[in-house]
Amino acid sequence: MSANVCEVFGSNVFSDVVMKERLPKDIYKALKRTVDNGELLKLEVANVVANSMKDWAIEKGATHYTHWFQPMTGKTAEKHDSFLSPDGIGKAVMEFSGKELIQGEPDASSFPNGGLRATFEARGYTAWDCTSPAFIKDETLCIPTAFCSYTGEALDKKTPLLRSMEAVSAQALRILRLFGNTTTAKVLTTVGPEQEYFLIDKKLYQDRKDLIFSGRTLFGAKPPKGQELDDHYFGSIKERISAYMRELDEELWKLGVTSKTKHNEVAPAQHEMAPIFSTTNIATDHNHLVMDTMCKVANHHDLVCLLHEKPFAGVNGSGKHNNWSISTNDGLNLLEPGKTPHDNTQFLTFLAAIISAVDEYAPLLRMSAANAGNDHRLGANEAPPAIISIFLGEQLNDIVEQIIAGKLSASIEAGVLNIGVSTLPILPKDVTDRNRTSPFAFTGNKFEFRMVGSAQSISGCNIVLNTIVAEHLKRIADELDNAKDFNVKLIEIITKLVKKHERVVFNGDGYSEDWVVEAEKRGLPNIKSTVEALTYFNNEENVKLFTDHKIFTKEEIDARQEIMFEEYAKTINIEALTMVEMAKKEIIPACIEYATTLADSICSIKAAVASAVTTAQEEVLIKISTLIAEVQNKVAALEVEVEGATSHSDIEDQAFAFREKVFIAMGDLRVPCDALESIVSEAYWPYPTYSDLLFRV
Ligand code: ADP
Ligand code: MG
Repeated sequence: MSANVCEVFGSNVFSDVVMKERLPKDIYKALKRTVDNGELLKLEVANVVANSMKDWAIEKGATHYTHWFQPMTGKTAEKHDSFLSPDGIGKAVMEFSGKELIQGEPDASSFPNGGLRATFEARGYTAWDCTSPAFIKDETLCIPTAFCSYTGEALDKKTPLLRSMEAVSAQALRILRLFGNTTTAKVLTTVGPEQEYFLIDKKLYQDRKDLIFSGRTLFGAKPPKGQELDDHYFGSIKERISAYMRELDEELWKLGVTSKTKHNEVAPAQHEMAPIFSTTNIATDHNHLVMDTMCKVANHHDLVCLLHEKPFAGVNGSGKHNNWSISTNDGLNLLEPGKTPHDNTQFLTFLAAIISAVDEYAPLLRMSAANAGNDHRLGANEAPPAIISIFLGEQLNDIVEQIIAGKLSASIEAGVLNIGVSTLPILPKDVTDRNRTSPFAFTGNKFEFRMVGSAQSISGCNIVLNTIVAEHLKRIADELDNAKDFNVKLIEIITKLVKKHERVVFNGDGYSEDWVVEAEKRGLPNIKSTVEALTYFNNEENVKLFTDHKIFTKEEIDARQEIMFEEYAKTINIEALTMVEMAKKEIIPACIEYATTLADSICSIKAAVASAVTTAQEEVLIKISTLIAEVQNKVAALEVEVEGATSHSDIEDQAFAFREKVFIAMGDLRVPCDALESIVSEAYWPYPTYSDLLFRV
C-alpha cells in the first residue's frame, strides 16, 4: 500500500473543492454565505446541495446516508437510511432532499438526556452543521449534525461547542475593533488534538474480561520491565505497528483528517497521532473519526486499540493534548506575540484574558477533563496534576513580572504605542523552553491543555475554554468601551488582571510534592476526583457564566451534570462487577487448582520418601491459601459496598458512594489477587499478564 497522499487526501469528503466543482455558482455562493457568515439557508439551496451530495456519494459507492451526531455518551451516533425511494411503478430511484439534509428525526430516545426529554415527548432532532463537511464512511454519506430536543435544548456535545465558538468570536471581535481592526469578520478558535493510544494483541485481549468490559485491566501484577528504560518513547516502530499506522493514516486522509505526526509513546505498546490543527468544531468531529478509525483499523491487524486513560496500573496513561488558539478569519493568530509593540499590546490583552479566565474558572476546566478513567491520571500518581496552573515560559513570564512591577506604561511616541517593556519586541515563534509537567502551557503561539483524557470528546474542554475566555474578553471590552483614554485604560486593565491572577502562573515542576503545598498556599483548587469536580458545574457563578453567554440553560447544565454523575456511577459499577466475577470464577478456581497440585505433590513426595523435606512447597501452599481467603473476604466486602452504593436514590450520592466506598474496595481486592499472580505458576494463571499484553504485540 503506497498511496499517493495528495490523491487520497479528502477523497471521501464533500469538501469545498468538490462543492465548487459540482454546485451551480449561485448555489455554491449561497451555501458559502451560510458557512462563513451564518446566513439563513434557503430550502431551494439545500435541495440542490442535497442532490449533488447524493450523486457524488453514489459515485463513490454509497447507498445510505446518516445524520452523524454526538450524543451525551461522548461517542458518535449514526442511523443509516438508504437513498432508496419507490418510483410508483415498481422500480426504485435514489433520492435525497434538502429537507432530509437539513433536518432529521432519529427516534434516538435511548440516549442519556438527564431528564430533558420526557418519555411522552421523546422526539429528538438532528440539524445539519454545514460548517463541518460531509464525508463517506462505510458506504454511507455522513452528515455532521447537532442533536436537540423538541423544545430546542441541546442533547449533544456539538451544539454547545458551536454556541461557545460564537461567544468567543463575538467578544474577541469587540476587542479587535477597539484596536482599530475593521476588516476581520469572524474570530475562530483552532484546535490540534494529539491522541495517545495503546495497541495490544487481539487474542490476548479476548482472554481478559476486564479489558472487554471496562477497557482497562482491573488486575495485574507489575511486569519485570515497564517503561523505566525510556526505550519505547520515539523508539523505532515495529513492523506490525507500522503497517497499522500506515493504514490508519490512509483511512484518515481519505476522510480529510490531516494526520501528520506518529510516534511511539512513553509506555510499551503506547503510541500517539497528531493531526494538523483546524477550526474547533471540525477538529472535534475529526477527533471522533480518529478514535473510531483507530479501533476499526486495529481489527484488520488482529490488534485492539485501547483508548482508555489508564489501561495498565503503574504504566503511563493516555491523554489528549488539546492545542488551542484563537485566530481571525483573515488568518491572524491572536496568540502570536507579534513583532511590533502594537501587536504586542493586543496580544497582551488576549494573554491577560486567558490567564484570568483559567485562574477564575479553574474548577470548570478541571471538570472538563473529568471522567472515571482520567481519575487514574489527574492527581493520582501520574501527570499532569489535578491542580490547574499555567506555564508561560521564560520570555512571557519575564513580561508578566515586569507588568507586575508596574513597568507597563502607555506613553505615546510618534503615533506608536510604546508600552515600555524592554523585553517585549520580537519574540521568536518557537519558544525553546518546554515544560511537560504543566496542565496548561504556552507553546509559542497557542496553549496546550494537557489534562484531557484520551477517550474523552474534546468538545467539553473547548466549550469551557471558549466560554471562559469569551467572558474575560467581554469584561475587558466593557471597560474599554467606557474608557476616556484607551491606552491608559488598557495598561491599567492588563496590569490589574495580571496582578490579580498571577497566582495561577507556575513554571516549575508540576509533578513535585512541593507544588501541591505551594499551590495550596496560593489558594489554587486541587480537585482530586471526577465526582468532586462535577459539583462545581452548577454553582451560581458557573450557571451565570454559561447562561450569560447562551452556551447552556440552567436546565441543560443540570441535565449534563446528572448524566456525568450517572456515567461515573455506571462505569465504576461495571468495573466492580467485573472484578467480582473474575475473582470468583477465574482467580480463585485457578489458585485452588494450583494449591491442590502443590498439596498432591507434597503428599506424593512424602509417600515416596517419608523423611523428605517439603517445607518450601508447604510455605507456598500456606501463602496461597491465606491469600485465597483474603480474596474471598475482599470480594464479599466489595459486594457489600456495591449494594450500598446502588441503593442511593440520588444520583450524586450514588456517584460519591461509588468513588468513596466501591472504588476503595476495588483497590483492596486487587492487592491479594496481584500477589497471587506473582506466586502462582504461569501455567495455571487464567488470563494474560501485563508482560504478555505489553510486550507481545
Ligand atoms: P508536541 O508533541 O511537541 O506538543 P505535536 O506536533 O505533536 O507537538 O502537536 C502539536 C499540535 O498543535 C498539532 O496538532 C498542531 O497542528 C497543533 N497546532 C499548531 N498550531 C496551532 C494553532 N495555532 N492552533 C491550534 N493548534 C495548533
Ligand atoms: Mg504536545
